[in-house]
Amino acid sequence: MSDLRFVPPLHPNSQLDAARRQQDLERAATEDFDLVVIGGGITGTGIALDAVTRGLSVVLLEAKDLAFGTSRWSSKLVHGGLRYLAKGDVGLAWESARERAVVASRIAPHLVTAIPQVVPDFAGSRRSAALAMAGFLAGDSLRVAARTPRGVLPRARRVDRETALQLVPGMRQRDLLGASVGWEIQLVDDARLVIAVARTAAAHGAAILTQTNATDVDPAHGSVTVNDERTGDSFTVQARHIINAAGVWSDRLDPDLELSPSLGSHVVIPTELVGAGHGSLTVQVPGEINRFVFALPQSDGLTYVGITDRPAPDGVVDEPSAPDSDINWILEVLNQALERPVEPSQRVGSFAGLRPLVSSAVSDSSADISRQHLIRRTDRLISIVGGKLTTYRRMAEDAVDQVTSRPCVTKQVALVGSGPSETRLDVPADLWRYYGNEAPGVWDNRGSADSTVDPAVAARLRFGRDFEGAATPADLLDRRTRASFRPVSKDLQAYASQLVSTMS
Ligand SMILES: Cc1cc2nc3c(=O)[nH]c(=O)nc-3n(C[C@H](O)[C@H](O)[C@H](O)COP(=O)(O)OP(=O)(O)OC[C@H]3O[C@@H](n4cnc5c(N)ncnc54)[C@H](O)[C@@H]3O)c2cc1C
Repeated sequence: MSDLRFVPPLHPNSQLDAARRQQDLERAATEDFDLVVIGGGITGTGIALDAVTRGLSVVLLEAKDLAFGTSRWSSKLVHGGLRYLAKGDVGLAWESARERAVVASRIAPHLVTAIPQVVPDFAGSRRSAALAMAGFLAGDSLRVAARTPRGVLPRARRVDRETALQLVPGMRQRDLLGASVGWEIQLVDDARLVIAVARTAAAHGAAILTQTNATDVDPAHGSVTVNDERTGDSFTVQARHIINAAGVWSDRLDPDLELSPSLGSHVVIPTELVGAGHGSLTVQVPGEINRFVFALPQSDGLTYVGITDRPAPDGVVDEPSAPDSDINWILEVLNQALERPVEPSQRVGSFAGLRPLVSSAVSDSSADISRQHLIRRTDRLISIVGGKLTTYRRMAEDAVDQVTSRPCVTKQVALVGSGPSETRLDVPADLWRYYGNEAPGVWDNRGSADSTVDPAVAARLRFGRDFEGAATPADLLDRRTRASFRPVSKDLQAYASQLVSTMS
């Protein structure tokens, strides 16, 4: 018997619609909470879910939209910590492997797939494939220790030239001998993980409020001043504890934190430019042992290629962009392993996210919190910054341990969409990938086909509005779907605008 607690598909308590927002606003302004969480990225939503399932009363405040910040700009990997292993940080690698197992085989199997990472073995430069193989095998031992079944994550192996080309058909053929292949877990979409965690928290009783900007925090009295960005009204939320999970914006609420952002860019290209296999071409950065450029094929025919890491030239901005120099550098590294080089002009787009770096004055261990999270406490205010999407559940556990001694139960709490599903052959495959066992409900809610918008896309947009707290066309096109990664047609834009204009 499974020890997991599932949320039934389309459960009314998980429905983040206009009526629920109104109810949650009233609660926020009148109730004394155990915990107020600031920030609706993966860290904040993970904390809200952890706290509410330990029996605490919780309100989450997000200034813009769920997954508005860094959480939607990641590489979308739930990784086993191979790079930490290479740096000798076995503890962190083990934690990543364990958390990967929890996400992929317990609480959110519907949101992930295994992806082969393919490191080509070229005659004349065989070191990178050999090193990668050693790393993959070490990673395998973590996978086994973390009890991730082979059906979820296959074993690493060396493959011959023919198999390598099946996995990545666009790979350079000259000097190709074969490849080292390891496996990682890929999210269907990082923003969808955030939304699933938020709705699961809502299903268990958390108040989840978007467009609520925390403008001031009083750590001594546990109060937060909030501006409702829709109406302009201000109100105060009162709680025993405040957790600041505002990502790169955290230092605006906790003046003792000193953050500086670093920028990570990805280039978006049509998958056919690397060939339509399902492998992730992984190319060693020249002159560096433990740094690679990855081409990560997505289910929508696009491939994300990344990643860079350097001080953010424009500091903290709402929507960072990838500089041309990053785009050129990423493609230069990738092209070394391609039969036909990809030109910058062939890209569909690009995206970039900000990582918080903390000044060493407040961190006794390391200035690099992109790997390990940092928790700081002042009176009733607890700030949590850094870490990884992969370890969000563990970060939430650590943060909530600061405010209660009740045990964490999130390993037993499946996210919405997870669990047994009905068989419905009429439901488009895409919807199963994004919504798990809620796909039939999403499809049935698609409305009448009175526009040229693809019915599966229309269904996703309507569900975004009716169940997932989307309130603007950008919420629908940028975060509930990734429609805006490609040029958005006038009809699609009009459909999204019309949907949100009819919200009650
Ligand atoms: C380029 C890049 C690639 C990455 N790839 C991976 C990967 O593949 N795998 C992995 O595990 N990790 C990856 N990471 C790390 C991971 O993405 C981050 O650790 C994680 O997304 C951070 O989430 P967060 O919730 O802390 O911050 P955010 O997602 O930025 O969330 C903070 C939220 O707080 C809100 N907010 C800010 N101020 C206020 C306020 N005053 N009131 C209310 N709300 C406020 C913001 O609007 C935002 O939504 C990557 C990071 C980068 C930069």
